[in-house]
Amino acid sequence: MATGKKKGLLFDSTRCIGCGACYLACKERNRLPVTAEDPLADELSAVTYTVVQNRRGRFVRRLCMHCEDPTCASVCPVGALEKTPLGPVVYHPDRCIGCRYCMVACPFGVPRYEWRSRTPRVRKCDLCYDRVAAGLPTACAAVCPTGATRFGDRDELIEEARARIRAEPDRYHPHIYGLEEVGGTSVLLIADVAPENLGYRTDLSAEPLPLLTWNVLKKIPNFVLVGGVLLGGLWWITNRRIAVARAEREALGTNRQTEEGQPSDREEQV
Ligand code: SF4
Ligand code: SF4
Repeated sequence: MATGKKKGLLFDSTRCIGCGACYLACKERNRLPVTAEDPLADELSAVTYTVVQNRRGRFVRRLCMHCEDPTCASVCPVGALEKTPLGPVVYHPDRCIGCRYCMVACPFGVPRYEWRSRTPRVRKCDLCYDRVAAGLPTACAAVCPTGATRFGDRDELIEEARARIRAEPDRYHPHIYGLEEVGGTSVLLIADVAPENLGYRTDLSAEPLPLLTWNVLKKIPNFVLVGGVLLGGLWWITNRRIAVARAEREALGTNRQTEEGQPSDREEQV
């Protein structure tokens, strides 16, 4: 079993060779179809939870950052997204009503939706929650041949990142991305250039976004908020239930077997 300390990933772009092993390991672990012959050509989608991108000769990974105080979880009206004590932000499909507020709220544009599924779910990396809870590293970190993706205790990874930057100041840009952005994330990034050169947002506050959201929301009269949330929630719940019931009826009628937990064909991008 894992110790109680918060876990995370340290991605060091200077060590990444763009082999795509992490991309393939994620596909295998989550039983997802391989959607691109060249791992560097794929995009995040409902069946691709991490990608490796080539940014002018530098390689960088993209995946859920597993925010310390995740906006996706704070806006979810039914608690379908949850920050676990070990660090992974996990998704409970049985609670989800399909409102997709999480997708709009995520500052990193991560969650994807199974648009073409009859019973759609939100899809994203779960930081291999079952493996992490069992004391194992994430599948992507376990296969990385260069140590570019490293799994460990978040505190230790921060120290490791600081030590690398201190030891080779000419090699690294002196910023650990994810240490403070949006209140901190479980996925940390270091590189030889500033994060914006690798496509990462740098206009983010160090304050958790849920806090900023709350500071705005508390100024709005309660009856407006409560009424809006209730009406919106009822609308989504009703529509999702109708859609799910229709899908189940049609599935029974045609006697088609849809394998539970398996994603459908490649999904549309958000
Ligand atoms: S990166 Fe987006 S989806 Fe992932 S935990 Fe943060 S807010 Fe949620
Ligand atoms: S497995 Fe490691 S070296 Fe290969 S692409 Fe992923 S992070 Fe880079």
